[in-house]
Amino acid sequence: MKVHEYQARDILQKAGIPVPEGGVAVTVDEALAFAVKIGFPVVLKAQVLVGGRGKAGGVKVVKTEDGLKETFEQIKALTIKGYPVEKIFVVKAIDIQKEVYMAITIDNAKDDVVLIASSAGGVDIEETAKTNPEKIQKFYLEGQRDIDEHRWVDFISNVFDGAQAQAQGTKIFQKLLDVFFQKDCTLAEINPLVVNEQGQWLAADAKMNFDDNALFRQDEVAALRDMAYEDPDEVEAKECDLSFVKLDGNVGCIVNGAGLAMGTMDIIKLLGGEPANFLDVGGSSNPEKVLNALKIILKNEKVKAVLINIFGGITRCDDIANGILEARKQLDLNVPLVVRLTGTNEEEAKELLAQNGISIFSTMREAVLKVVETVSD
Ligand code: GDP
Ligand code: MN
Repeated sequence: MKVHEYQARDILQKAGIPVPEGGVAVTVDEALAFAVKIGFPVVLKAQVLVGGRGKAGGVKVVKTEDGLKETFEQIKALTIKGYPVEKIFVVKAIDIQKEVYMAITIDNAKDDVVLIASSAGGVDIEETAKTNPEKIQKFYLEGQRDIDEHRWVDFISNVFDGAQAQAQGTKIFQKLLDVFFQKDCTLAEINPLVVNEQGQWLAADAKMNFDDNALFRQDEVAALRDMAYEDPDEVEAKECDLSFVKLDGNVGCIVNGAGLAMGTMDIIKLLGGEPANFLDVGGSSNPEKVLNALKIILKNEKVKAVLINIFGGITRCDDIANGILEARKQLDLNVPLVVRLTGTNEEEAKELLAQNGISIFSTMREAVLKVVETVSD
C-alpha cells in the first residue's frame, strides 16, 4: 500500500524528522489560506501516488497570491501517469543549497534491509543510478535492526560533507529506520533531503510503501488508504476474503489454492490462452465464495469464458457445485462455464451438475483446452 506525500510527511514529522510547514488543499481558497498562514514563497505539489511529479510539472514554487491562483489551476488540471490531481500540498519553500537522496528498503535477493543514499539527490536520481551507479551508496543492516557504527562512517562520509552534516544525516537515517520497522514499510524514501541556507536539514519529499500483509496490525496506516488508487474489483474481492488479482486476458479463473491457481494460469498460457485474473477461493468450501467470485469476475467485460478448477481436499466438490448452481440462479451467466472438479465428493458434484446440464472435466488439461477453445471461437 502507498500513501500520499503529505501523509508520509506527517509520519516523518511524528518520528522527529524535520519537515517544512504545510497543509493539503482541495480548493484554491484553501491553498491560499495555507500560503498566507505559512508565508510566501510556497511550493504547490500535486498529490498523486506515482513518482516523477516534478518532471510532469506537478511541483512549482510560487511567490505571490496571483501566482498561486494561476499555478494551482494549472496543477489541478494535470493528469500524471493516468491519475488526475485531486489534492495539492502547499508547503513553505526552502532555499535549497543541496539535495541528497535517502531511502530504506528490502533487498529481496540478499534477504536484508538496505539503506541507500546519494549525494546527488533530486529528480534525476533514476538517471544517476543508471549512468553513475558509483554515486549511489548502499549499507546493508546484515540482519541487525540498528546501524553498526564501525561500518557506518564509510557509508555516511560518502554522502554528507563535514562532521555536522554527517551527524544530522545519521540522526535522520536512524529515525527513518525506526519508522521503517515500526510501520512495516517496504520502502521509506526521502528525496530530496535538503539543506537550507541556515544549514538545517529537512525532508522536502517523502514516499512510503507498506507491507499489505502487515496492515492488520497497522490501523493508523490502513486508515490512510486512498481508494481512488485501488482497483475496485480487488477491494471487493478482499472484502469477500478472496485473493484476487486482475489481469489482461479473457479467461476468468476460479481456483482453490494459490499454487493451483498459478499452475492453472501457466497452463492456460501454455495452451494459447490469456487469463483474465488470478483468483484463489481458499481452502474452505463455502458455496458463497464461488458466488462472490463469479460476481466479481463477470464484472470484467473482457471475460469470454470462466474456468473453475477445483482440487477437492478440504474443499468439497459438492459445495463448489452448489455454489455454481446458486450463482446460475442469481446471476446473469452470459458466458460459458468450464468446470473441472476432482477429489472429495467428486461424484456427488458431477451428479448435481449433470442434472443441471453442466458437464465437468476430471483433468486440468482437458478443461483448459476446452476453455481456450471456447474463447478463441
Ligand atoms: P517528485 O518529482 O515527485 O520527486 O517531487 P519532489 O517533491 O521531490 O520535488 C521535485 C523537485 O522540486 C525537488 O527535487 C526540488 O528540486 C524541487 N523542490 C521541491 N521543493 C522545493 C522547495 O521547497 N524549494 C525549491 N527551491 N525547490 C523545491
Ligand atoms: Mn521526490
